Parts: sequence; structure tokens; C-alpha cells
Amino acid sequence: MKITAAVTMEQGQPIEFKEVELADPKDTEVQVRMVASGVCHTDHAGRDHALTPYPVILGHEGAGVVEAIGDRVKEFEVGDHVVMSYAHCGHCSHCLSGYPTTCLNFNTLNFGGQTEEGGHYHELEGEPVSLFFGQSSFATYANVEEKNLVKVPKDLDLVKLAPLGCGIQTGAGTVLNLLMSN
Ligand SMILES: [Zn+2]
Ligand SMILES: [Zn+2]
Repeated sequence: MKITAAVTMEQGQPIEFKEVELADPKDTEVQVRMVASGVCHTDHAGRDHALTPYPVILGHEGAGVVEAIGDRVKEFEVGDHVVMSYAHCGHCSHCLSGYPTTCLNFNTLNFGGQTEEGGHYHELEGEPVSLFFGQSSFATYANVEEKNLVKVPKDLDLVKLAPLGCGIQTGAGTVLNLLMSN
């Protein structure tokens, strides 16, 4: 379907709103209508320092409402409120030990620009657009693997929850997992 996305066409260029084609969600993918997205310094780095091949839709602190699900999605249904986080593979030794933040496939999945299967969710004028952090939340809709989503209560404000996906959990994790354990 057609969505509006904030696209970075080339390194260091201003982000531009464009109409982009987003694929239907399949298998374990969830399609989310975006309500809010935080802006993190890593988005600026993605724009200016070629973390991911261009063009790219940045954004990795998305929060929204589930609009559609792939046929193998187990944990979510249409209407659920969700916060998105980083991509992780779920099957490497670090993921299986309970440390998905240090997933051995982290760089490929979050900065490689492609989906887990090696394809693309987005097209701009028939050409693929890079995925960022498995979500590309600077858009009206996003496709996300279900394991990268967290369901949240519907009475909470998604605008305030969005930065939990990166900034708040990164800071809290530093204090709780490193400072307080040493
Ligand atoms: Zn971030
Ligand atoms: Zn992993």
C-alpha cells in the first residue's frame, strides 16, 4: 500500500517526505500504523554517516497500533498497541542466552538495510529503500518482525512510550545492567 515516509535519499541530505510502497505483512511480520516516533542521535548518524545504504527510511523508536498481521504471527492481533525496538535474530548464542542486545547478527539486521529474509519492505518508484533497525519508523506505517515488538496497555500514551524503544532502555540498561552489577 501507499504510505508517506521521511526518506533520506543520499548521505548528509535533508530528509524528504515521499510516497512509498509498503509490502503487505507476511509470515511473522506485523504492520503497524504509526502514532509516534522518537528521534535518536543514531537517526542523525544514519543520515550523515552512511550506516545503511541510501536511500533509507530512518527512525527506530516507533509506537503505534497493529493494523494487519502475517499468517504466522502468534503474539499480536489487530488493534493491539505496540512499541518497536531493535532487530535481533532470536537464534544466535547471545539471543538464546537472554542477551538480544548483543545479538551476533545485530549489525546486519539493524544496519544492513534489508529484512531478515534479505529483501525489502519498501519501494520508491520501483526501487528498493533500505530498512533501518528492522522498523523504519519515520513513516505513517511500518512492517516489523513480531519478536521486535512489545505490547503495551491501551490506556497509556503512545507518544510518551515511543522513546522506550531505544533511548530510555539504553540509558536504563546501562545503569541497571552494568553500573549496578559491578
Ligand atoms: Zn537510538
Ligand atoms: Zn541473535
